[in-house]
Amino acid sequence: MAESILARFIDHLGGQGPEPSELSALEDDPFETLFPRDNGETAAGKDVKDVLHMSQAGGPPKQPSMSTPPPGGQGAAPGAPPQKPMSRQPQHGGEHRSAPMPSAEAVRRRRVPLASAVAPGAKDKNGAGQPALRTQATVEESGIPEDDSSQIVFEGNLLTAIGGPIKIPQESRNLCALFDSGLWLVSSSHRNSPLVTSVAATARRMGFPVSPARLVTPDVIRSAYNYFERQISSLRLDENAVRRQIVRTIRAAVDAGANDIHIEASGGRTRLEFRVDGIMRQWETWTQKEGEQFLSAVYSHSSGQSGATANWLEPQAAMLTPGSGPDTIALPEGVIAVRCQWVPLTDGGRYLNMRLQYDSARIFGESFAQADVDHLGFNQEQTELIRFLRRVPGGMRIFAGPVNQGKTTTLRVMLNRHMAETGMEQKCYMIEDPPEGGVLGASQIGVSATVKDEQRERSFTEIMRCILRLDPNIVMLGETRDLQTARFIFRLALTGRQVYTTLHVYSAMAIPQRLRDLGAEPYLVYDHHLVCGMICQRLLRGLCPYCRIPAAKVADDPAYAPIIRRVRAGLAVMQASRSLPREGVDPYDNLHEPDLGNVHFVNAEGCRHCYKGRLGRTIVAEVIATDAKLMAYLADNRLEEATRYWLSPFGLNGITMAWHALEKIRDGNVSPIDAETEAGPCATVKDVRMVEERLGRRDKWVL
Ligand SMILES: [Zn+2]
Repeated sequence: MAESILARFIDHLGGQGPEPSELSALEDDPFETLFPRDNGETAAGKDVKDVLHMSQAGGPPKQPSMSTPPPGGQGAAPGAPPQKPMSRQPQHGGEHRSAPMPSAEAVRRRRVPLASAVAPGAKDKNGAGQPALRTQATVEESGIPEDDSSQIVFEGNLLTAIGGPIKIPQESRNLCALFDSGLWLVSSSHRNSPLVTSVAATARRMGFPVSPARLVTPDVIRSAYNYFERQISSLRLDENAVRRQIVRTIRAAVDAGANDIHIEASGGRTRLEFRVDGIMRQWETWTQKEGEQFLSAVYSHSSGQSGATANWLEPQAAMLTPGSGPDTIALPEGVIAVRCQWVPLTDGGRYLNMRLQYDSARIFGESFAQADVDHLGFNQEQTELIRFLRRVPGGMRIFAGPVNQGKTTTLRVMLNRHMAETGMEQKCYMIEDPPEGGVLGASQIGVSATVKDEQRERSFTEIMRCILRLDPNIVMLGETRDLQTARFIFRLALTGRQVYTTLHVYSAMAIPQRLRDLGAEPYLVYDHHLVCGMICQRLLRGLCPYCRIPAAKVADDPAYAPIIRRVRAGLAVMQASRSLPREGVDPYDNLHEPDLGNVHFVNAEGCRHCYKGRLGRTIVAEVIATDAKLMAYLADNRLEEATRYWLSPFGLNGITMAWHALEKIRDGNVSPIDAETEAGPCATVKDVRMVEERLGRRDKWVL
């Protein structure tokens, strides 16, 4: 009820603040009995206004009601309670009440100076006027239609209330009241008092509309302030309802295993979606109004807003963190913080992305300090390589891959193992923006997401300078994104520190190229002591073991035949390449029929164990421990030879991401279709042709 009042009030105060909710929990609102809801209005999210007969404004009837009986005779009884349901019924002269609630934009627009908002014919209150002994007479003087004189509609924000946008002395508050609708109530005996005229002048200067004065008794003015007080306190209850809704939504997202909550309030409705295992899931639909209340309330409960203005209607980033005051949102167990990003949409709607930051125990399980990367889906050889890389004393381990592909999780597991293995005797600093923590014994140096860009740039420079003086053993830098950060990590590596960082680049072999691209010198980039580990990873959705479909079942289906041919060819070439009898043998001369018996496809209908046939996520990766020969090829730009050397059993015996994906297809852990989407085709056209030439075309291989 009356939800827009606080909202607009707060909007005037600078745009922050919770909006109350109609989402839920209004049934127990004690104010409901005082202010019964008009379903036609509130259910549609429209404004609720309180119509108050002057004769009901507390106490005995006033003169106006005597001179002009209220329409329909309603509310004429002296001493009737001031807020009766019938006062909400449409009455003539109260036509604004059925108008839809102005949108937040509309309210904002009203703040723009609006000379024209003053009704034509309005008299300057500073002008001379006869003493107003009778309200009726005054109303006629003011040009207000007579039929409106018997009632005053209180609606919207009381701008002159305590804490309101127009600061006025308490003495003025006894004599006048200005609503954002322009309703301007003035004590009839003080219409020319400076305490009154100065308020009108201030309001006009601030751009608020000021309608012709309604001359009233001080009782009416008092009742206006009382009315607004009641609205505010009832809204505090509603505010709690929205808070509960925020807590409920976050908990539902955590229970669903979501990483993100997406809320889009536009086009009259609000779509609530969770991103689980990288896939968006429709969760609930609310009205647009409910969504806007939610977005606004999240904003008012978050901290460290970074936008140019303190207003959730503008692009903003902020964090929800627990326990920083009585007014914070209680986050579910396992969630450290929620990173929020608000974006305005072109159609006037709003968008909010909330990213849940889980603590390490939640991500890796309770024994996360003992967990190793094989839990994440690296294969045995890759896990061994990563263990080796942990032991190399200095140098950089660079994690490549697109955003949101679990790079920092791998990095944390690796660092945690390192810290555990070295008995916490090494000094580790983590520099992240924003800080996410999760490594035992590490010192977290946060470059907050909340400060402005220039400031952040400066503080980052300062932090890097400071780290060099702190004499660390290990430094984790969240992201190497420019020449400045690249120089910083090379400096650390040159001075013998272990460096862990991430880089936005598509593959492990492309890491040196990307570093060159940032401006790093070749003598640094191609030194395998400095760049000692190159890792790239992506996440694939896991196949549900309960409902997956064996490839044999769909082998005859023309929709599946081409991909099964590619899986066969890819597996045959991979096995041949990895088991060459001696150096220089062509893999195509070493082909054997692969076993496709455990290849499975997704059952898109899913089952009770999964979502659309998928369960969890697993890594596909490339892990390279560099050596001088590999770096020499790369320095000469001989990428093909470098790759051959990397993959050869007589070279580094590595595996590509596509091969890692093929292993997981072979073992029935991922669907070939999902794998091709993320890691590329299982086999080239040439591979398929060569394999079918040597091993024969088999259309029923798995039977
Ligand atoms: Zn299933």
